Amino acid sequence: MIKKATNITWHKEKITKQGRWALNKHKSALIWFTGLSASGKSTIANETEHFLFRNKIRTVVLDGDNIRHGLNKDLGFSAAERRENLRRVGEVARLFVNTGVLTIAAFISPYKADRMMIRQMFEEREFIEIYLKCDLEVCEQRDPKGLYQRARRGEIPVFTGISDPYEHPENPELLLDTAILSVEESLRIIIDYLKKKEIISPKFK
Ligand code: ADP
Repeated sequence: MIKKATNITWHKEKITKQGRWALNKHKSALIWFTGLSASGKSTIANETEHFLFRNKIRTVVLDGDNIRHGLNKDLGFSAAERRENLRRVGEVARLFVNTGVLTIAAFISPYKADRMMIRQMFEEREFIEIYLKCDLEVCEQRDPKGLYQRARRGEIPVFTGISDPYEHPENPELLLDTAILSVEESLRIIIDYLKKKEIISPKFK
């Protein structure tokens, strides 16, 4: 990414992130779901958000498909465009995290280097990578949007798992096998992790 803007200075904010955390009574972080299409990213992201919202936690979901309807509708699926897609998402997520919002992102994000780019935008404890591991066969059986069928017919030229690689995370904060765990079991593990890391209060049920 070439930096074109010059003669600009960073304006320092008076309100700190820690101040916002104190107001909200919870910390902020970016929960990053990665995995094949149909591994359960949107489903589990939304369940997580619902749980947090019920407990009065400020939260937002950034979902791959939705972001491509607006902010990133000018981008396709080449490696360079996927990277730019994620770079912008990372920047948006950083704005949310800095304003105290517990941010949830659901993106296939198949390339290791791109996920690393996002990780490096955040402080260590603020980036929580959750790998939704799920066998391709199971994802293909679920196929809620019929995308695998279309990809197999050659109607989608670049499709992760079929004609484009998915590079497995090596050290995700959490690995959840959604071919084995139910949505509720995955949610429970995520909430327990957020409690253990003192991002949210241990009293939430
Ligand atoms: P992605 O966002 O990764 O493409 P989605 O959440 O859109 O995945 O789709 C996953 C589909 O699989 C949903 O229809 C969901 O109900 C279903 N599903 C079945 N079992 C599970 C499970 N154990 N965990 C997550 N999703 C599951």
